Amino acid sequence: MFSNPNYIVYLSGFVSMLIIIILAFIIVVKSEKNKKLLLAIDQIKNSLDQMDEQAKLIVRTDIELNKIQEELDKKISGLYVLQRLSRAFASTLDEKEIFNKIKSEHIEELGMQRVLAFIWQKKETKFLQYLNIGYDQTSLENIMRAIDNNHLAYLKIIKQEKTVSSLSNDSGIIPNQEIQDIFKVKDFCISPIVPKEGNHGFLFVGTVSEDIPVTEGDEELITILASSIGQGMENARLFEATWHAQQELERRVEQRTRELTDAVTELKKISKRKSDFVSAVSHELRTPLTSIKGYASILLGKGMGELPEALKERLEKINRHSDELVHMINDLLDITRLESGRVTMKKGTYNLKSLVENTVDLLSVQLKNKNLTLSSNIPPDINVVVDKSQIERVFVNLIGNAIKFTAAEGTISLTTRPAEKFIQVNISDSGIGIPKEAQEVIFEEFYRVDNPINDKVKGTGLGLSLVKNIIEAHQGLIWVESQVTKGSTFSMLLPTVEIVKK
Ligand code: ADP
Repeated sequence: MFSNPNYIVYLSGFVSMLIIIILAFIIVVKSEKNKKLLLAIDQIKNSLDQMDEQAKLIVRTDIELNKIQEELDKKISGLYVLQRLSRAFASTLDEKEIFNKIKSEHIEELGMQRVLAFIWQKKETKFLQYLNIGYDQTSLENIMRAIDNNHLAYLKIIKQEKTVSSLSNDSGIIPNQEIQDIFKVKDFCISPIVPKEGNHGFLFVGTVSEDIPVTEGDEELITILASSIGQGMENARLFEATWHAQQELERRVEQRTRELTDAVTELKKISKRKSDFVSAVSHELRTPLTSIKGYASILLGKGMGELPEALKERLEKINRHSDELVHMINDLLDITRLESGRVTMKKGTYNLKSLVENTVDLLSVQLKNKNLTLSSNIPPDINVVVDKSQIERVFVNLIGNAIKFTAAEGTISLTTRPAEKFIQVNISDSGIGIPKEAQEVIFEEFYRVDNPINDKVKGTGLGLSLVKNIIEAHQGLIWVESQVTKGSTFSMLLPTVEIVKK
C-alpha cells in the first residue's frame, strides 16, 4: 500500500494540507493575538496621552497658582502701603502736605514707576501739578502742556469717577495710545480724586518696563489710593474751615471783649461822674436845708411868742418837708457812697433773731395800726457777720415796705434757710404784689410802681436801692418773688462768717 505512488501523493498531499491547515491555524491564532496586542498598545498610548494632558494641566495650574500667589503678595504689600499712607493722610491737615506724604518708595512698593497728581483750580481754570515721581522737568512740562491743551477730556475722566487704565479698552475720552505717548509709559491707571467738596483732580500712575505690567489688582489699589487722597483733602478742607471759623470766633470774642471793656470803663466813668454830681448837689442842698429847718424850728419855738394858727401850720409843714428832704438827701448820699465803695462796713458778729426783733419793735406801732400779723421762725442760734446799723436799715426798709404795701389784717412772715457761709432770710407779705416787669427794675433808684398805695403814700423810691447796695457791700444777694394781689417775698443772703472781698 505504501508502495503505491498514488498513495504517496495522496499522503503527501494530505500532510501538506495538514501543514497548511496548522499553519493557517497558527496564523489565525497569531493575528488574533496581534490584534489584542495592538488594542493594548492603543490603550497604553491613550493613557499616555491622557497622562501627558494631565501633566500639562498640572504644570499650567501650577503656573497659574504661582501667578495668583504673586498677585496676592503684591496686593497684600500694596494694601500695607495704602494703610500706611491713609494713616499719614489722616494726620495731615494741609491739602498740599497730603501729596508730600507720598514718597517714591511707596510707589515702588506698589510696583509702579511713574506717578503724577493734578488738581483742577476752578479760579485759574487750569490743572496744577501736586505730585511728581519719576519725571524730569522737561518731560513734566511737556505733559503739563498736553494736559492744558486737552483739559476738558481730563475733567470728563474726573467727572466719570471711574479709574481709566491700559487694561481696558479706550475709555472713549482719550485713546489709550495717546495717554501712553503723552506720559511715556507702557501701562497706566488714571484715577479721579474726588473730595466731597473743593477742588477735584486725578492721580496718574504708570509703568515703563515691559516686565512690570499693570494688573487688575494694581488698578484696584490705585483707585483706593486716589480715594484716600480725596478723603484726606476733604479732612484738610474741613479742618481749615473749622480753623477759620475758630479764628473768626476768637477775633469776634476779642473785639466784643474790647468793646465790653470800653463800655465798662465808660460806664464806670459815667457812674463816677453821677456819684460826684449827686454827692456835690446833696451836700449843697443839705446846708441850706439845715438852715431852713433851723429857722422854722426857731420860729416855732416858744421864744417867738404865740404865732397865728395859719403861720404855725405852714412853719410845721416847712419843718416836716425839710425833714423828708434831709432824709432823702441822706439816703442818696449813702447810695452814692456805697456804690463808689467809699463806705466800709463796720462788721461784727450779731445774733440774727435779736437783730430782727429790734427792728420789729421799732415798727410795732405801724403793725398795730394796720392790725397785721407778723410771724417769725428765725432760729435763735444763728449769728451773722454784718454792720449792725446798716443791716437794721435793711430790715427797717423791707419790713416797712411789707407793712406799707399790705392791706389791713394781712400777714407778714420772716423765715430763714441755711446756705453755705450765708443764711437766707425771707420777708414775705400778703400785700398787693409787684408786676413781673417791675420786679426787674425795682432795685433801681427812684423806681416806684404805679399803684394806688404809692399814689396815696409818699415815698422816694430810694429804699430798695439803698438795701441792695448795703447787702452787696456784705458780699450778699437780694432778690424778689412776687405775684400781683397775692403778695411778695424779698429774700437776701447774709454772711454767717467773715467773707473776704474778691
Ligand atoms: P418807696 O417805698 O419809697 O417807694 P422803695 O425803693 O422802698 O421805695 O420801693 C420801690 C417800690 O417798690 C415801691 O414804691 C413799691 O412800688 C415797690 N415795693 C417795695 N416793696 C414792696 C412790697 N413789699 N410789696 C409791694 N410793692 C413793693
